[in-house]
Amino acid sequence: MIDIDKIRKDTPSCENTLHFNNAGSSLMPTPVFEALQEVLRDENEVGGYEAERRAQDSIQAFYTEFASLLNAEPDEIAFVENATRAWDMAFYGLHLKHGDRVITHVSEYASNYLALLQQSRRLGFEIDLVPSDEYGQIDVDALDDMIGPRTKLIAITHVPTQGGLVNPAAKVGKIAKKHGVLYLLDACQSVGQIDVNVAEIGCDILSGTGRKFLRGPRGTGFLYVRRSIINQIDPPFIDLLSAKWTEANNFEFVDGARRFENWESYVAGRVGLMEAARYAQNIGLANIETRVSELAQSLRDALSEIQGISVHDLGQKKCGIVTFKKEGIDPKVMAETLRADRINVSVSQMTSARLDLEPRNLKALTRASVHYFNTHEEIVRFVEAVKQV
Ligand SMILES: *Cc1c(COP(=O)(O)O)cnc(C)c1O
Repeated sequence: MIDIDKIRKDTPSCENTLHFNNAGSSLMPTPVFEALQEVLRDENEVGGYEAERRAQDSIQAFYTEFASLLNAEPDEIAFVENATRAWDMAFYGLHLKHGDRVITHVSEYASNYLALLQQSRRLGFEIDLVPSDEYGQIDVDALDDMIGPRTKLIAITHVPTQGGLVNPAAKVGKIAKKHGVLYLLDACQSVGQIDVNVAEIGCDILSGTGRKFLRGPRGTGFLYVRRSIINQIDPPFIDLLSAKWTEANNFEFVDGARRFENWESYVAGRVGLMEAARYAQNIGLANIETRVSELAQSLRDALSEIQGISVHDLGQKKCGIVTFKKEGIDPKVMAETLRADRINVSVSQMTSARLDLEPRNLKALTRASVHYFNTHEEIVRFVEAVKQV
């Protein structure tokens, strides 16, 4: 269903690079790179503000493309410089107080968990960890049981950075709705490789990044906030874009999720990210999801057959992220050796996933993350290279 030849032509660097680092930063397809370049060229030739004026249609299309990608409304979308700040703009604006409880899971992203720790220290709310079920994913029955009258927020990560797990986000959404608890979903690793639909998932807030599976530019991210809950968040920062200075001593937030944006932003990046969302939708997220999970599973299967290699992905449903270790080889050395061969992977360190990797006694893992433009031939080459290390 996916025209791989065309897609690889749109990704010229896959000719000479074996890129299994799509969870780190993927390769931009040509239309994205060209959109980015066009704005930068205009900025250089006619001036920054003038270039922005020329790019108006594409800038506006950012909201409609993301609304259609996520099944939301355009006014529920904000452009933010990365996923962490997008998440922060919502989280730090919530009215949490002493005695409240916030539920998260060991798969939560490190920067989010640090923010939870900082705010719990400041405000005095408690953090509860929902247990994992036998697959290592969020135990939804336990979640249902642990929500009490003081539970104010469920903040979880759809796909963790350090493994192939896909958390049951829609089941969590049903429980959040049943109890009337706010639901904040970090979808940084899922948007672009999984068909993420906010109506189906039932999350109130969702954050994501541009450069990973969406194949957008670096330094770009986005935030979704459900219209009906927007007034439950007091944006932690304010400026001339997010608010209107209505009288000398008064202001109002602008309508919709744009109150979470910054006046100054990376215009070329926004246009590039819009183009990336469009590119992904032209291929079809359902098609992408099928191909990515199938490629990743065949990589897992092939790695598991090698003597001395262990694969560490949790979850009943798995995605394009494959984590493994080779006996006697430091994952950093594994990544460096592969890089010398123009094979790109990442390393997931325990220090950036303590709640998950520490109890499993995993100091570091090699992370190979595939995308739809990768091929079975590349998997064979990769597995051969890993064998040689
Ligand atoms: C990468 C990542 C983030 C952070 O994204 P940035 O755009 O780098 O801020 C958040 N959550 C998860 C699960 C990630 O993998």
